[in-house]
Amino acid sequence: MTEKVHIPPGHPRAESLRIRERMVEYARRGVVVLSGLIAHGRGEAFDYLIGERTTESARKAIRAAAAALLQAEHPVISVNGNAAALSAHEIVHLAEVTGAAIEVNLFHRLPGREEAVAEVLREAGAREILGIGEAASAQIPEIQSDRRRVDPRGILIADVVLVPLEDGDRTEALVKMGKTVIAIDLNPLSRTAQYATITIVDNIVRAMPALVREAEGLRHLSREELREILSKYSNREVLSETIRLILERLSGLAGKGIYLSLPKDMGDPC
Ligand code: ATP
Ligand code: MG
Repeated sequence: MTEKVHIPPGHPRAESLRIRERMVEYARRGVVVLSGLIAHGRGEAFDYLIGERTTESARKAIRAAAAALLQAEHPVISVNGNAAALSAHEIVHLAEVTGAAIEVNLFHRLPGREEAVAEVLREAGAREILGIGEAASAQIPEIQSDRRRVDPRGILIADVVLVPLEDGDRTEALVKMGKTVIAIDLNPLSRTAQYATITIVDNIVRAMPALVREAEGLRHLSREELREILSKYSNREVLSETIRLILERLSGLAGKGIYLSLPKDMGDPC
């Protein structure tokens, strides 16, 4: 039994703390690795900077991502431990709406871990899951970690790959292979964010439900209409807007010197 941490509902970071507890629970289940917990912390820091909400720029990227997945011949959703822990239901739902395959792809293929991740996806309703064990028999070039191992029915032949919480090396390798890569990454400066074809700078817990809704909204468009949406999208522009938003937000806050509205009885420490 794991002990439950009590999070007061009125706590200003209640939602973020609940998500942290979920990550710890999934680390104990062997789904998330310790370095995955650190990666999550890096994401949390960037979430402060964008204001812990889905920005207008992220919405543009989400729309383009939904269009890219829907018009693809072989769309694949690549799933690691953190993504499974935080968004298993939405991954399954998005796969249903867009016809994408689900493939487990891990930086650390520790014994039993692929199965643990697959189990979380199955509990969320996934039927077919690629990339498990011997099924990950193909390799993508130029990658040192276990992430080079892919399923020949999945990522190897995919034209569009959604990589929530990806590493920079693999994003670069997938783009070099000619694939359209959609990343979800809170850090607009990471190599993943910079290399990807479409970068959704948002927390996966907000981005995935929004992506499912967008795909449901666009699913009846023709391939031509979907490609028209894609042709108007510029990732450079969206990344610039996001970095500018952070700058403007921070200079606004710097002027006020305050971020949270503190309860009155805590007063001003000065
Ligand atoms: P890169 O390899 O792309 O240069 P990195 O080495 O800084 O990036 P990694 O540890 O490889 O980062 O991957 C973690 C990335 O995932 C971080 O950029 C972090 O911002 C992002 N991240 C972590 N948790 C979340 C989350 N919940 N939602 C969205 N992004 C997240
Ligand atoms: Mg990295």
